[in-house]
Amino acid sequence: MKFTELNLSENIQAAVVTAGFEKASPIQELTIPLALEGKDVIGQAQTGTGKTAAFGLPTLNKISTDRNVIQALVIAPTRELAVQSQEELFRFGRDKGVKVRSVYGGSSIEKQIKALKSGAHVVVGTPGRLLDLIKRKALKLDNVETLILDEADEMLNMGFLEDIEAIISRVPENRQTLLFSATMPDAIKRIGVKFMREPEHVRIEAKELTNVNVDQYYVRVKEHEKFDTMTRLMDVDQPELSIVFGRTKRRVDELTRGLKLRGFRAEGIHGDLDQNKRLRVIRDFKNDQIDILVATDVAARGLDISGVTHVYNYDIPQDPESYVHRIGRTGRAGKSGESITFVSPNEMGYLSMIEKLTKKAMKGLKPATAEEAFQAKKKVALKKIERDFKDESIRANFEKFKGDAIQLAQEFTPEELALYVLSLTVQDPESMPAVEIAREKPLPFKPSGGGKGKGARGNRDRNRGGRDNDRRRGGRRDFKRRDDKFKKDNRRQDNKKSHKNTSSEKKTGFVIRNKGER
Ligand code: AMP
Repeated sequence: MKFTELNLSENIQAAVVTAGFEKASPIQELTIPLALEGKDVIGQAQTGTGKTAAFGLPTLNKISTDRNVIQALVIAPTRELAVQSQEELFRFGRDKGVKVRSVYGGSSIEKQIKALKSGAHVVVGTPGRLLDLIKRKALKLDNVETLILDEADEMLNMGFLEDIEAIISRVPENRQTLLFSATMPDAIKRIGVKFMREPEHVRIEAKELTNVNVDQYYVRVKEHEKFDTMTRLMDVDQPELSIVFGRTKRRVDELTRGLKLRGFRAEGIHGDLDQNKRLRVIRDFKNDQIDILVATDVAARGLDISGVTHVYNYDIPQDPESYVHRIGRTGRAGKSGESITFVSPNEMGYLSMIEKLTKKAMKGLKPATAEEAFQAKKKVALKKIERDFKDESIRANFEKFKGDAIQLAQEFTPEELALYVLSLTVQDPESMPAVEIAREKPLPFKPSGGGKGKGARGNRDRNRGGRDNDRRRGGRRDFKRRDDKFKKDNRRQDNKKSHKNTSSEKKTGFVIRNKGER
């Protein structure tokens, strides 16, 4: 469906054209008409489906810029998501003159109060900071006509239920409420019943794993061997842009330090870092100033980053849905992606649980040896030397050393000099600085997944050789795209039953993957 068919005002439509959107995504097609009618909507959709514009466009459409009051409030789980939504809403509302402000913890509240005072039609914020601002009487919600709960399930997971309820109680009752959530647990349905009026349900099935071209591998490895195993694989894979997921903040810090020590351009993000630092790291990652982003699940949730070629799950996630989110960071924009999950022997049950959800078996991968890593690094170095010699700007630099070079050429043979250059350029993995990563207890063995996992393990050992051989043949990149279709979401819930209000449900499956490439 074209945006012109959606009854949006002209300046909003113009902004959509400027953004380069050609067709409305399914969640937009379903949500926008309902929202424009003033209906409450519960949208089951994840990041990547275009949900921000789905709630953003009708909300901006409704804003009257003549009234300098807050008319819409978006509650988001994380600072990153709040900033991302603010940016998206700002670009669609700019022509119309809509002022969109974001507020979040970890950043100066005074500055945010000042920004709010200078005028805001739409505010996007995280629950804690919103409450803080309400208590300081810096945020007046009496004129809010549209309330949006974004990634509601994530907010509940993070323990924000009470805060959200407190915020909602400050918003006039005769408002429109739009709620978006990737999953629909009972707690979310209860919010729907308690705070919404006859909500319409629209649902976009999570298809990230089926749609994207991600080759999924796992490596069975003991906890103390994980770091070396990962960096060797990185040496062999030479990932362009990758995300490493760690279970805890400490883990993220240690992995970042270790990766830097081994010469990788890595930075970490987690909840304890101050906001400016987090945003800077994400910006640097998007601008290719950093090759590896190390993150916790929460910090990476909802990040809209394209071009990630590899996802390394240093720690296997406890919750299979987190795995789906993690993997969804790669294989976007029509490109292929690869994910590698490190699993300690007694975590194999978790692997089975993930495979059950994704309906896709991960391929076992034999860890790269130190020798393989060394050879791979050597190849890269030789290519670089070849490239550099063709680079005029680098050759121009040679002039400075001419006299010394002539002298060296008299003292040593060309072979000796070349050996010296190579030994300086290629770090031997055997003599890499040792990196200590504090031991974290592997996840406890889960009997539910374990039984199945045992059987699967046998197959996996057979698979291992397959991947290894492919690597030796240099055929890894030729892996065929595996379009295993699966019907995800047995968890589909019939919302009508648990809602005392009448509601209807529309559903379809969709993920926008070609960001920046349309
Ligand atoms: P979201 O699910 O809101 O995080 O959106 C994911 C990405 O898709 C964002 O970069 C949006 O700007 C982009 N996007 C949203 N709607 C559309 C559309 N109809 N056409 C093209 N890109 C879109």
